[in-house]
Amino acid sequence: MTSTKAYGGLSATTPLVPLTIERRVPGPHDVQIEIRYCGVCHSDLHTVRNEWHNAVYPCVPGHEIVGIVTAVGSHVKKFKTGDKAGVGCLVDSCRECDNCKEGLEQYCHQGPTGTYGAPDKISGGHTHGGYSASIVVHEDFVLHIADNLPLDAAAPLLCAGITTYSPLRHWKVGKGTKVGVLGLGGLGHMGVKLAAAMGAEVTMLSHTASKEADARRLGAHKFVLTSDAEQIKSVMGYFDFILDTVSADHDYNFYLGLLRTSGVMVCVGAPAQPATVPAFNLIFGRKSIAGSLIGGLPETQEMLDFCAQHNIVSDIELIRMDQINEAYERLLKSDVKYRFVIDMSTL
Ligand code: NAP
Ligand code: ZN
Ligand code: ZN
Repeated sequence: MTSTKAYGGLSATTPLVPLTIERRVPGPHDVQIEIRYCGVCHSDLHTVRNEWHNAVYPCVPGHEIVGIVTAVGSHVKKFKTGDKAGVGCLVDSCRECDNCKEGLEQYCHQGPTGTYGAPDKISGGHTHGGYSASIVVHEDFVLHIADNLPLDAAAPLLCAGITTYSPLRHWKVGKGTKVGVLGLGGLGHMGVKLAAAMGAEVTMLSHTASKEADARRLGAHKFVLTSDAEQIKSVMGYFDFILDTVSADHDYNFYLGLLRTSGVMVCVGAPAQPATVPAFNLIFGRKSIAGSLIGGLPETQEMLDFCAQHNIVSDIELIRMDQINEAYERLLKSDVKYRFVIDMSTL
């Protein structure tokens, strides 16, 4: 094991602090990555504060990891020292179940191994994420980052990018689809960029009036302030597809009203509290409410290649590691444009 500098939480109610964690020595199939940048996902905050009741401490969050390969095991074929590499929300899965064989490792029947806070089958203990100097991951769970993508702004693609790309692809969003993206944060801004690049008509549904100009610059064709009754009226029964990225508790029924007949609302945002949806709100109009979890490894690579082809990266605000607690407070106020990324050289 190698001692590695990191930053993490020791309890749900205390700020993140500098820590030392242990990383395994690379095995034959492992890739060791020096982490250059790590994006800050709202899931990091939900987890470290134990809002989903699944935290284990010390908790080192971070699953939007990019860096440079510093060592590879003897059997590694896909990577060599010096390559750019990315790691998202998963670092392992069973590889044998139907879903794993189909490249849907996020839905592994045995439960995939999350990048942080999951039982670590290889070294024991639990996994630690990207708020750290380096990480060691089986090559099957490491992604290639194209040279034309700036490494810092590419980091959020590893979670915010794939989490929005996957449902857009699954529900065949494209030319002629009227898409509403609910919430303009890390996921939402990637949802706007990706849906627009796929040819859809994109409307930003936001509770923050000051985000209108940015939403349009990111690719939204329309902007609707969700607190304005007149503006909401103009999109009642309008959307084929709503991508709900909101992190806070909110009323799903309100947004189901914006779907047209047979429309689908896909929840990727994961508020702490359960919601109530009367069946009638789905029955009238044959509407669906669905969920989607990140994306599998093949689709994550496909998304990274799509982004490289279309020159899509995240709009980021680069922060120092010691600004993380302040960044979390700003996330809670919807005050991020549009993803915090930690410069790991400041660890
Ligand atoms: P984020 O950057 O904090 O963005 C969340 C956005 O939600 C805010 O910018 C805001 O947009 C809107 N919002 C916040 N509070 C609100 C409120 N009280 N009422 C209405 N809207 C509100 O978060 P993120 O990193 O994009 O993550 C979003 C959610 O997705 C989190 O719950 C996260 O855990 C989850 N997530 C899920 C997956 C998955 O696989 N399904 C993957 C990653 C993250 P406006 O200001 O525009 O309204
Ligand atoms: Zn995430
Ligand atoms: Zn599996």
